Amino acid sequence: MKDYYKILGVSENATQEEIKQAYKKLAMKYHPDRNPGDKQAEEKFKEINEAYSVLSDPEKRKQYDQLRKFGYTGVEGGFPGGFNFEDIFSNFRTGFGEGFNFGDSFIDDLLNQFFDRGEFFRKSRRGAVKGEDIHIDVEIPFSTAVSGGEIYVDVPRKEVCNVCGGTGAKPGAKVTTCPVCNGSGMVSEVKGMFAFSRPCPRCYGRGKIISEVCYNCGGTGQVSRLRKIKVKIPQGVDTGTTLRIRGEGEQGIGGGGNGDLYVHIKVQDDKFFKRKGNDIYVEIPINIAQAILGSRIRIKTIYGNKVELTIPPGTQNGTTFRLRGLGIRNNGNVGDMYVTVKVEIPEKINERQKRLIEEFAKEGNLKY
Ligand SMILES: [Zn+2]
Ligand SMILES: [Zn+2]
Repeated sequence: MKDYYKILGVSENATQEEIKQAYKKLAMKYHPDRNPGDKQAEEKFKEINEAYSVLSDPEKRKQYDQLRKFGYTGVEGGFPGGFNFEDIFSNFRTGFGEGFNFGDSFIDDLLNQFFDRGEFFRKSRRGAVKGEDIHIDVEIPFSTAVSGGEIYVDVPRKEVCNVCGGTGAKPGAKVTTCPVCNGSGMVSEVKGMFAFSRPCPRCYGRGKIISEVCYNCGGTGQVSRLRKIKVKIPQGVDTGTTLRIRGEGEQGIGGGGNGDLYVHIKVQDDKFFKRKGNDIYVEIPINIAQAILGSRIRIKTIYGNKVELTIPPGTQNGTTFRLRGLGIRNNGNVGDMYVTVKVEIPEKINERQKRLIEEFAKEGNLKY
């Protein structure tokens, strides 16, 4: 079931006024006129309107809240044992009792969700459930982003129970064919105008009855574990990059295949080097004599070596020099390094220096 509260970004206790305000804001942001050709915005706009049409109507909202209360928010991996499908179904029917007046699309949506669930259980009956994908956020040091490398991340994930091998049965337990569905995992029933084929409530769609559940996983066939996973960081990676590591998500059940691991990268800032795209920006202090007379200075690059930069005589404060090819190397592209000089004026000088500066000023070549 779609979470209309989440879609509008309001709490379940939100007042009608709060719902209205949230809707207005979002509807304005995602309006097709403002996002021409943006399919995602269009979908979002439809979703927002659907959510508002239900939540803004106190009667519909009440019905919707009731449906939510049945706990029908989705099945997260590890069944069975979580809930009784039969109860949900009868409650679902009750929810469609008198005074039911949702729009057609709302009914369709709910029914679709039930049929989708049926599909989920049918898959699990055959024993194959694909593992979920996992998303994690990772911060990496600036230097790792520059040169690439390997990092290790701790990923909490569900894995196949090593005691029962995913069957959920205690080793040596009796496993018999379910007498209700004869092992098919599904039962059919006609309710009102609908013919439902639904997961067997006795065996939770597995088709088998276990005499004793596995002590290690409680019958779910899965256990949670913290895994250290090696992640290869490509050279030049930047904040906002997502790396996909195939097969390192939650482990599937019964050969259902593992999910994938998605690593969302944030590159830590460096004190000295500022990055914009593949270009690097630094600020270097020089003294007043270097600025006037010119100089050669040595500058640290992001690659750890030093390069020489020629400051020509008469360099102004704030002048920027470009060092080609000394930026980030990223997928065959190379950025540049921009060095901005900051001329430092000495705050304290001695008597002799003072006399020299006065003499310098008297020479008459100073403007202003
Ligand atoms: Zn187990
Ligand atoms: Zn059964």
